Amino acid sequence: MPLDALSSTLYNKVNSRLCGIKPSDPTITVGIRYAMWEHAVMRQFNREVTAEFAPGPFPQPRCATPQCRPSRTLTLRMFALAMPVFVSLVLCSSSLSAGEDPCERTLGEVCLRPGAADLLKDVEGLYGKPVKMAETTRAAVGDSGVYSDGTPYIELNPVIYGRSDARREAVIVHELFHLKMKASGYPIVKFQREAVSPDDFQFLLETVRLVFDPIEHHLFASKIREMGLDPDAEVEDHFRAIEPRPEAVGFTNYYQRAMTVMRVLLECSAPTALRIQRCYQSNGWSSALDAGKQMAALATSREEYSPDDEVVIYMKCLRRLLENQADIRLVAWEDERHGQAVYRVAVLRVTHRA
Ligand SMILES: [Zn+2]
Repeated sequence: MPLDALSSTLYNKVNSRLCGIKPSDPTITVGIRYAMWEHAVMRQFNREVTAEFAPGPFPQPRCATPQCRPSRTLTLRMFALAMPVFVSLVLCSSSLSAGEDPCERTLGEVCLRPGAADLLKDVEGLYGKPVKMAETTRAAVGDSGVYSDGTPYIELNPVIYGRSDARREAVIVHELFHLKMKASGYPIVKFQREAVSPDDFQFLLETVRLVFDPIEHHLFASKIREMGLDPDAEVEDHFRAIEPRPEAVGFTNYYQRAMTVMRVLLECSAPTALRIQRCYQSNGWSSALDAGKQMAALATSREEYSPDDEVVIYMKCLRRLLENQADIRLVAWEDERHGQAVYRVAVLRVTHRA
């Protein structure tokens, strides 16, 4: 029996969508956005193709590869390929039928499910303003902060638009946690500039990014996992492929190597961390490896920190990194107002030992 015009169109859509895509492809298995559309397609497909399909005036599919041409085995192949769609449909339709909107809110182009949308609401409540979105190419993935008028912002590197929905949501959630913690009393760190040379000052700023931030990541990683998201996917991707070489950026001196391996130990999977550690051993970077391991152990010494603990642990890490070369003291707590939010600032003084 010939298919009517609607089912022909639907067939072409299904075929072009499934052609060449392995059943394990996340674009199918995730499938949330397409759930409603696929549901309609597959219902139609079930009714009109599986029972009725037979050689005849069936429209040629757009797909040109031999395995996608209609044949007597097409039905079986289509079903094999469509199984993940069915699985996602069952999951999606059950959640949709429960009245849950998978995108409770969007931020920029990113879908936020209810947990992330609640977090965004918390952040907007703390700052008293909506979160602004911007693009950046300075950060490899994303960044966040607060404009001079007190508006919190999140910057995304456009590379994340190519990620899956869950990966994009995880990047936003990561930045929202940074914003929330800073507006909830978890401190930022500043250094007394006059105490150090300009080069040393730059180095200390680098330790904020490479040591203080991973400590903060450890504090909220488990909360991101509880939301069903992977907090470490971006870092894992970066280090999974990397081959540490002496001349490579991030590995050019003892300090960078120690800080890098600390981050790997805190934020990468066990196989990736093991591979990087073996690279360190074969390069003879054992003292940097030891320092990185000890800093990671300090960061994970407890699951819950008070806001002040975050600075205490960071200072312990800095002392281990700089060994006996510098004295590091907390000299003041200051407040820094950002619109409605007040950041606590830990002012550190770092001086060379004579
Ligand atoms: Zn971060």
